[in-house]
Amino acid sequence: MFESLQKKTVIVTGASRGIGLGIAKRFGAAGLNVLVVSRSLQDACKVAEEIGPNAMGFAADVSQQAECKAMVEAAVKRFGSVDVLAANAGIFPSASLADMTVEAFDHVMHTNLRSAFLCTQAVMSVMQEQGFGRIILTSSITGPITGFPGWSHYGASKAGQLGFMRTAAIELARSGITINAVMPGNIMTEGLEDMGEDYAARMAASIPLGRLGKVEDIANAVLFFASHEAGYITGQAIVVDGGQVLPESSDAMA
Ligand code: NAP
Repeated sequence: MFESLQKKTVIVTGASRGIGLGIAKRFGAAGLNVLVVSRSLQDACKVAEEIGPNAMGFAADVSQQAECKAMVEAAVKRFGSVDVLAANAGIFPSASLADMTVEAFDHVMHTNLRSAFLCTQAVMSVMQEQGFGRIILTSSITGPITGFPGWSHYGASKAGQLGFMRTAAIELARSGITINAVMPGNIMTEGLEDMGEDYAARMAASIPLGRLGKVEDIANAVLFFASHEAGYITGQAIVVDGGQVLPESSDAMA
């Protein structure tokens, strides 16, 4: 059904575990070259090894401009181009408004929001030259649609990504570059597994489709945005949450 993306190159940030790991593996299985990025070179290389010879690990902190530039240069040097950027790296430390420090706020904004700008800016000239590019941000339902105590900084960063995306989409459109976002609900990652079975069961009960998301659910949506067939879609965000944001009260799920 889909035209092949084989031999194209994707950079996946935050790919050493969780959702990014799922995205990297999905793209690797689809035949793309994959630059696996995290701050830990060891973890990134381990994932690249699992994916195969079409993957390479690279260490970069995506909140730092020079490291984003180096990341793109490494992909071009190793694979010859960058066709897709999955800007997925993110952090979600919890802090109530009363306790939140300026440093904690800035750290979340820099890692989640400034990184969207820095990674996009670093990759855009390569994509402009080739007249093709796909950028996909991992946002969240938290911020753009919902709220959760302890995550005001996180929610602001995730909503900010979508604001950034809408203007970037216009600026990049004439170069054949699209930029879109996925908004995951509660996805079963290592971090969530640590919260225990009871927590996971309670979360699942609040989701119309009756289960937490899998990293593959997000990876498939990212792959769709990367496809040739999604070429007329830009500046859009898709919720991938099993219907989690739909019930307007607990009665709706009774
Ligand atoms: P995770 O399991 O904690 O993985 C985060 C990844 O990002 C790791 O590979 C981490 O590796 C990397 N990372 C963190 N800070 C970085 C930085 N400054 N520079 C480069 N890499 C960095 O997180 P996740 O649950 O998969 O979440 C991935 C994305 O999905 C995030 O943007 C998150 O906000 C979003 N999301 C997740 C959920 C969910 O339910 N899990 C729901 C909605 C949205 P290093 O520590 O080695 O750098």
